Amino acid sequence: MTHLKSLFAGNDALSAAERAAMASLRMGGISSVIWVVTERCNLRCIHCYEGGRVTPELSTEEVLKIAERLGEAGRPLTFVSGGEPLLRDDIMILLRKLKDLGIRVILSTNGTLVDEKVARELADLGVDNVAIPLYGPEDVHDAFTRMPGSHERVIKALKLLGDHGLNLTIKTVVARRVLPHIRYLFDVAERYGAKAVYLCDFIPVGRGALLREEIPSKDEWRSLLDWFIDEMILGDAHGGAEIDIGLHPSTAIYVMERLREKGYDTSSAEERMRTRRLSVEGRGFISISPTGDVYLSNYLTDFRLGNALQDDLRELLNHPLYRAAGDSSQLRGRCGSCPYRDMCGGSRVKAYIYTGDLLGEDPTCLIQD
Ligand code: SF4
Repeated sequence: MTHLKSLFAGNDALSAAERAAMASLRMGGISSVIWVVTERCNLRCIHCYEGGRVTPELSTEEVLKIAERLGEAGRPLTFVSGGEPLLRDDIMILLRKLKDLGIRVILSTNGTLVDEKVARELADLGVDNVAIPLYGPEDVHDAFTRMPGSHERVIKALKLLGDHGLNLTIKTVVARRVLPHIRYLFDVAERYGAKAVYLCDFIPVGRGALLREEIPSKDEWRSLLDWFIDEMILGDAHGGAEIDIGLHPSTAIYVMERLREKGYDTSSAEERMRTRRLSVEGRGFISISPTGDVYLSNYLTDFRLGNALQDDLRELLNHPLYRAAGDSSQLRGRCGSCPYRDMCGGSRVKAYIYTGDLLGEDPTCLIQD
């Protein structure tokens, strides 16, 4: 999570989530968790990193036990994700448990199973945010999900959830074919009152491994960020929606350098990035799989730290892999010698996927060619 408006424009849209993450970090060392509760899905998105993989799932009793362990570990910001989490029959039971424990919950759903009953239940449970993917207008979105009518269902879900007072995030992947439609995504966010647009860098794994031509160039990313700077960080286009970047920490460094060139003071953003490194792997973030296995990241399943049912979550943070990933002084290559390594740290996910070295340089860095 790199919140560009929060960092550089003093936008507070996601501060409650950030506060929950920081409080949990101080209590137990874990700030945020992506919990993949199922890999089953009713869509077949062309870029899906899970690539149709379906592993066994834990029972209701077991997921409730893990929820308790998250409560004991400091109540980290918890993204309940999938697959499609609404396919679990017991999903509302799990969400209720998490909320009863005082955990801040973001439900990540593809939106196609949201109807009036589901929207009301989520609102009654007090789910803090619902994140729904959108890849562009109808033809683009439906081609991405390979499900005709999925765009219409997403729009319906946004309306239903918004009508029930739920906070919304629109999420997307920055693939080449999505780039021309980013403005559309912010327009939809504004229309339905979404608090944020989450833009995750395209990662060529799972089904995405067959779509390497969809990886945006560095200049395409820079142009996108220049547009954000001019219209949404310095300007006030598209209301208050946060620009939340995933798996691309050097985007914030790029924005910082451009703002400095334009004469703006970026010292408070620098201070925040120094306090909390943008690259979250090994820095308070963990991922839990449908079987309870704990990983450095849901993209880094070669790096298993332990199991949430069998191990104390806080003790897993002492795993040498976790400690190494979070230690900027151990980084290698250009990230290792970079003056921004303590603020940015480079994406450990992309370092591993592109170079095979978890501690190597992030080859997608936007301040280096
Ligand atoms: S070299 Fe690495 S640490 Fe430095 S800005 Fe680029 S990605 Fe970040």
